[in-house]
Order: sequence, then C-alpha cells, then structure tokens
Amino acid sequence: MVYDFHTHTSLSDGVLSPIELIRRALINNYRAIALTDHASLGELSRIIQETTEICALARSHWDILAIPGIELTHVPAGAIAEAARRAKELGARIVVVHGETIIEPVEEGTNLAALHSSDVDILAHPGLITTEEAELAATNGIFLEISARKGHCLTNGHIASIAQQVGAKLLLNSDAHSEEDLLTTSLADAIGRGTGLDNAACHEFLITNPQALVSRLPGIAT
Ligand SMILES: [Zn+2]
Ligand SMILES: [Zn+2]
Repeated sequence: MVYDFHTHTSLSDGVLSPIELIRRALINNYRAIALTDHASLGELSRIIQETTEICALARSHWDILAIPGIELTHVPAGAIAEAARRAKELGARIVVVHGETIIEPVEEGTNLAALHSSDVDILAHPGLITTEEAELAATNGIFLEISARKGHCLTNGHIASIAQQVGAKLLLNSDAHSEEDLLTTSLADAIGRGTGLDNAACHEFLITNPQALVSRLPGIAT
C-alpha cells in the first residue's frame, strides 16, 4: 500500500491529466493520492474546482482514495494564512505549502508562516528546517515532508533527524510531475531507510502517519 499526498498534473506543471495520474497511481498499488497542483491566489478556484470533480469521479469508480488538494507555491509568506484559508473554503482537502527547499529562492519565513496556519496540513520539502519550526509542526499537528524528488530530497536526513528529536510527524511524498516519479512500496521503503530512521520510525512515517491524515478526511476515507 502506498500513500502519497503531493503530486502534480497538467493543471500546473505536471505531464499527465489528473485522471491519468490517478489511474497510474492505482496501477502502482496506491491506496491514496492527493492531487496538489501549484497555485498562489489567482489559480486557486479553477484548480480546486477541476481537481475536486475529477477526484470524486475516480473515487466513485475505482478503489483509490483520490484527494483534491493544492500546493501553495511561492505565495508571499505574509499571504500564506489567507491563501490556505481560501483553499479550504474552496474545497481543498489537503493544503500543502511549498517550503524552504535549498534549491529554490523560496521566501524566508515561508516555513514559519505555514506552520502557524491551522489550514495547512503538510509542509513540503522544508529544507534546513530549524528546531523551533519542527517544534511548531509537532504542536500544531502539521506533517513535515520527506521528499522523493531530486533536489528537494537533499535535506531528508536533516529533516528526519530534527523531527525525531522534537516529536514532529513525518510523511513521504513523491512530488511526482510524471508517471515515472510515482512511488512504489520498495522505493518508499528504501527512501525510509535512507533517512537513517529505524524500522519502527519508518513504519510510522510510511503507514501510521498517512492513515492518521486520511482519517481526518470524512467523505473521502471510507
Ligand atoms: Zn513544492
Ligand atoms: Zn510540488
């Protein structure tokens, strides 16, 4: 069983249409996939509306939890709380914030702004996250991402280590932009071991934490 809460489609810079990405995920033994295309404030409404409709179509015909979401990407830090609130109001079930990865000029303060918002579910690729930020994630129940994506994955070991120290919850996401980026159970296990976490901690972040997040989504979790 694979869980993946961060993916991209042709609604932003992904290759596949939303329904084809879900179809490919189903074939890869996914239990749940969130479609989280890039948006700031302007595109929120359009993307969430289309994603919501397509995810409902997939759930009603196929055995996969397709979840409409959004990745707030390069939104000014001062506008993240408002954008996250609007995304939830528009129907996004998972709000991911594009965190301070070391490979892009993400505005400083983005991690903190995301971790202060009760509408944010996942802080993606948080880069060289500080202990203070990880403590905030633990307190506010926001998941920190271990990334399978090239570049973003360079700080996985650091993120896993800090999260373990303060009790913050981790999730693995593909950040897939095409079908070859999708996870498999063996790749997920290997990335888990690669963080340096022990078997119990890997099981928690690959299975227990995703199930906890899914259980927060009435109407999608059955
Ligand atoms: Zn991102
Ligand atoms: Zn992404």
